[in-house]
Amino acid sequence: MVAMRHLLDLSLEEIGDTLVEWGEPRFRATQIAQWAVHHGVTDFEAMTNLPAPLRARLTVEFSLAPLPVITARTADDGATTKVLLDLGAGAAVEAVRMDYDPDEDESPDRTTVCVSTQVGCAMGCSFCATGQQGFTRNLRPSEILAQVLHFTRERRVTNIVFMGMGEPLANYDATLRAIRWMVHPDGLDLRQRGITVSTVGLVRAIDRLADEGLQVGLTVSLHAPDDELRRRLIDTARGTTIDELVAAAKRYIEKRGRRVTFAYALLDHVNDEPEQATRLARRIRGIQAHVNLIPYNPTAGAGLRRPSRERVRAFQRALQAEGINATVRIERGQEIAAACGQLRTDVMNEKTAPSGAAFAVIEP
Ligand code: SAH
Ligand code: SF4
Repeated sequence: MVAMRHLLDLSLEEIGDTLVEWGEPRFRATQIAQWAVHHGVTDFEAMTNLPAPLRARLTVEFSLAPLPVITARTADDGATTKVLLDLGAGAAVEAVRMDYDPDEDESPDRTTVCVSTQVGCAMGCSFCATGQQGFTRNLRPSEILAQVLHFTRERRVTNIVFMGMGEPLANYDATLRAIRWMVHPDGLDLRQRGITVSTVGLVRAIDRLADEGLQVGLTVSLHAPDDELRRRLIDTARGTTIDELVAAAKRYIEKRGRRVTFAYALLDHVNDEPEQATRLARRIRGIQAHVNLIPYNPTAGAGLRRPSRERVRAFQRALQAEGINATVRIERGQEIAAACGQLRTDVMNEKTAPSGAAFAVIEP
């Protein structure tokens, strides 16, 4: 049996083309998008301003099915909810909603959804639960969007971070299609600046993203002050140097006028010495960037440790002493294991991870 095509794998333009082929006016695409994305409707029959025959044809030819929820967990503070969504064929993907106070800038009541772009990941970061699962498959645009729609059906979402499972720029087309639905006025109508793509550092894809004419934020995961250590931590980093990544970040800043963030997972006595902070600072100085430090979330089997608070502070101070703006992601949602790829690991292994932390709250 051929699976029915999900309507939201198509762009608004493509939905319009299909309707025109069917002899329908193109403006119906806008109506359909408003129902399906803006209102999160999952049944064409609910689209009351469409003619009945069109609703019937859409129902036969396309799906609007949401992803079924396998588990949903909310942290004690009520501000972090993580869901594991069923992709069929034994695959699942996770998304997290964080209702946090503003971190470093503006909006007073932001609600951020962290989305996944792949089942597993092929990049092989040694400290990442997703990386340790290996790569299964890319998500389709509708599957990325479905994670956000799951939450927008409950409440307003203001920000999206591509920091869940997988490498978004290794699934470039689906990621971009999902972003276009997120920012389109007839889609979710989110501010482009409220969206952040996090990448392990695919230089060509960063340049491509810079040319998309979007104002989305970029986070580049560095994790090391030198290429030798970076290559030890990230299996696939061999072909790319830190200098190349910093240069790509610089081009992104110049083209998009957006600041770039460098993410740095802090691993006890591996990459957290103040001396390493100083070397890192010297490599990234001079561009409009800041560093987001993520104390390592212990994930089963990696054999790495989270540094003490003191070591985290010392690293942060060493960066600041070199004039680099550095923030630390504090722990949230510990009991729901809201780290990258951790919930899936928990559920799949039917055990509880010793500790976890969520992304996104940032201490100045
Ligand atoms: N693949 C992309 C986005 C998903 S990972 C990337 O690597 O940037 C999102 C962030 O979580 C990355 O910065 C990653 O380095 C970090 N991360 C993954 N596992 C972690 C862990 N166990 N502890 C702390 N940070 C982790
Ligand atoms: Fe993939 Fe990002 Fe995890 Fe690395 S940190 S394995 S790139 S998801």
